[in-house]
Amino acid sequence: MKEYTLAVLMLLLSAGALAAGTPWQNIQHPVSGPPQSIGSFANGCIIGAQSLPLNADHYQVMRQDQRRYFGHPDLIRFIQRFSGRVAQHRLGEVLIGDMGMAAGGRFSSGHASHQTGLDVDIWLQLPASRWSAQQLLHPQPLDLVTAEGNQVVARHWTPAVAEMIKLAAEDPQVSRIFVNPAIKQQLCLQAGSDRGWLRKVRPWFAHRAHMHVRLSCPAGSTECQDQSPPPPGDGCGAELHSWFLPAKPGSSPPLKRTPPPLPDGCQALLDKHLL
Ligand SMILES: [Zn+2]
Repeated sequence: MKEYTLAVLMLLLSAGALAAGTPWQNIQHPVSGPPQSIGSFANGCIIGAQSLPLNADHYQVMRQDQRRYFGHPDLIRFIQRFSGRVAQHRLGEVLIGDMGMAAGGRFSSGHASHQTGLDVDIWLQLPASRWSAQQLLHPQPLDLVTAEGNQVVARHWTPAVAEMIKLAAEDPQVSRIFVNPAIKQQLCLQAGSDRGWLRKVRPWFAHRAHMHVRLSCPAGSTECQDQSPPPPGDGCGAELHSWFLPAKPGSSPPLKRTPPPLPDGCQALLDKHLL
């Protein structure tokens, strides 16, 4: 009788632990195999992810205790290539935020996407010197958008930040960059005649202190679902303006719904690794 009670207690405890998060958080190390991003950015996973090297000359990785620094090798190479260019242009230190978990998948909090190892948050501040370990562990975001949400905060907005977003957008593997509408608007205002790169910079909710960079599906990831390309043009016209109109009833960030079924490849991965 006593043993039975203990067994029931153990079961309840483990069920409670799982309910607090998602099963993906229990996978601590990348799943070995040829790199494969599977599914969509908001419902997927990754085999063969790599850890971003945590000690590097041209970038620093924040909140390493969260272990959200895994991604497809294409994403690792992008971060290295991009931060190298930022260094060449002497813009400042690149601060890397969340990428994905070891096998990708759904987070318990913080992100709907970042699930296939192809998304990275990069902060929109470029400190002149490197941050201390303590600063990296408890980073202070810099809000670039006014409280009204209709423009950038002039004293925080710098040419270096605009240049950094442009450098990211010019990378051939980048498919989209999400920033707050006020940030996109500022980029539209100051871009001049070189505007092709603006097409990839997409207005979205929040994203006031960081840009979210998304790569295209890598060659060889046959089960990876790309988004359709952004509409043609620089995206500085009616679509952008619609973000600044008074909110219509019901036009708020997408509601959290019950997650859709996992892609087969991700369900198989979970079944295998969480037995
Ligand atoms: Zn993001």
